[in-house]
This record gives sequence, C-alpha cells and structure tokens, in this order.
Amino acid sequence: MFTRPILALLFLLMCVPVISAQDAPAPVEIVTTTTQASDLVRVLLAEVPADAVTVTALMGAGVDPHLYKPTESDIAAMSRADAVIYSGLHLEGQFDAVFEALAERGVTIYAIATPVKEQGFTLGGFDLSEELVNVDDPHFWFDPRNWELSALATAEVLAELLPDHAEVITATAEAYALDLQAVYAWSLEAMATVPEDQRVLVTSHDAFNYFGDAVGWEVRGLQGLSTADEAGVADIQAVAAFVADRGIPVLFVESSVPPQALNAVREAVVANGGAVEIAPYTLYSDAMDAPETFGGTYIGMYASNVAFIVTAFGQALPDWPEDLLPELPEDLLTVETPEE
Ligand SMILES: [Zn+2]
Repeated sequence: MFTRPILALLFLLMCVPVISAQDAPAPVEIVTTTTQASDLVRVLLAEVPADAVTVTALMGAGVDPHLYKPTESDIAAMSRADAVIYSGLHLEGQFDAVFEALAERGVTIYAIATPVKEQGFTLGGFDLSEELVNVDDPHFWFDPRNWELSALATAEVLAELLPDHAEVITATAEAYALDLQAVYAWSLEAMATVPEDQRVLVTSHDAFNYFGDAVGWEVRGLQGLSTADEAGVADIQAVAAFVADRGIPVLFVESSVPPQALNAVREAVVANGGAVEIAPYTLYSDAMDAPETFGGTYIGMYASNVAFIVTAFGQALPDWPEDLLPELPEDLLTVETPEE
C-alpha cells in the first residue's frame, strides 16, 4: 500500500536512534511543516528565550503542501524532534505514513486544525479521488476565526512542551487572538466595499471556501481541493460559462498553483465574446511568503489577499487597524506579481 520511496523513508526512520533528553537541559526541538504552521509557532514562541527551544520549518515560501514529499533530512529532523506541529486535515498529503510512524515512536504530533475539527467548523470536501470521498476541506486557516481557535489550542500544546514558559506563551496567544480579531474586522469592512452582486471569488483551486464563509462571498475554484487534481477541459468550460453568466470581471491566480488553467478560462470567456481579466496580483493560497516579509506572516498574508481582491475589483481599502502589527506596507499594491 505504501510506495517504495515511502517504505525506504520509514525504514530510515526506524534506524534513527531515539535521543534521550532527560540528562541535559537541551532546547526543546520543534519541527513545523507548512509556512502557516511555522509562522504560528514562531508567533507563539516570540517571548520565549531562544536557548529554550529550536524551531525547524520544513516547507519554504511558495511550496505546495499537497504535493510536498518529506525528504530524508526532513524525516531525520522529525524523528529527533520533541514535537512535530503540522497543519492537518490531510493538507500534508505525503506525510500521513511518516506521521503514523513518528507517533508510534512517541514524538508529539499535533495538527493545528484539531480544535477546528473538534468544534465542528470544518467544511466538507467533495469529488476528490475515489479513496478520499467526503474528506474535510483542509484550507481551514483562511477563516481568521478558525486561526484564533488554532492559535489558542496550539499555545496549550507549546505550554506543555515548555512548562517553564507556559505563562508567557499563554499571554502571547491571548494578545495574538486580539490581533486576529482586528484583521478579521478590517477584512469584513474591506470586502464589503465591493458591490453585493459582484462578490464572487474565482481562483485556480478550491482553497478559499473558508475565506468565502468568513467574509460572506461566493467562491468558485477551478481545481478540486487538492492541487494534485488537474483541471480538465470540462472544468474549464464550466467555470468559463459561470464567469460569463455572472459577469464576473476578474479571476485570481494563486501563489502555489500554476496559472495556465485560469488563463484557459479567460481565453474561453473571451472566445465566446465575453470579457474578464486576470488580477494583477497573485493570491497567497497554500503557502505564504518568506518569514521576514509582510506576506510571510499569517496576518500579512491574509491582509494581502484582501487588499489584492478589493483593489482588483476597483475599490479602496479601509484604514489599517490602529496598533496592529505587522503594519500594511504602503507599497504593497505597487509591487505587482503579474502572471501572463
Ligand atoms: Zn490547497
């Protein structure tokens, strides 16, 4: 049932010795998978002394987590770690077997999606491959209310791993929850500037259902929930007909998904005498930007998407919430990333 490379990796994993942490005040070692998971852990540990904990992030900016396969060095890092913190809901589709093996070895494996799933806020999936019918849509972080739940629950896990720093981690999480509420309120105000009958977000894959739910927009993705599903000719024709029918003015390319299929939609609309643009800005979908940039933070990534959408619909942004960090860069909308 496992492919040969996965079996080889699992074998490698079994050969790595278990390291005992009890006799040394070694830093707690945490491995994170996706850019979102890495950012959340970084935020929550911001006030913890650097010598108490190390965080190793596996996926870099722009990496597609649906397709990312753990490398040998990833597996070695995870098997050495005290805890692996990942996104969950099968977003990291190539990690499932490795996670199982790690859990059996006693490594703490925590999915950030856990409280969202437990409290019933996951959205259903659809039409994936035959063995994955009715899975949850894994893109839960695009609703900031979900991310707030995740932040508070992940803080509890981190506080248990670092009991000497539990208080400061909890305080950081509570302050961060307020920041998430502030950016969410700002996004509601921003997205409401677009006239009601135009509030449809058309993108390359189905990453934005939670976002649509959060801001009250309709969402139409070209590919299925996983980027492993290729959009076929029928999908392209169906979305083109939908776009023409609804008079949707603009389509959005996503950072970790190639733009060809969306360009085909535009061409199909134009071939039938319609008009639609590809937005000049690329949305962040399953991967964020590099850690030190605005788009490399959850708040910056989310706000960038909102800014890109609202601007592409020809509207102006409301004022950025006072005191909310990171601040919306003044040149955000002049740095274009067109995909032709
Ligand atoms: Zn995705």
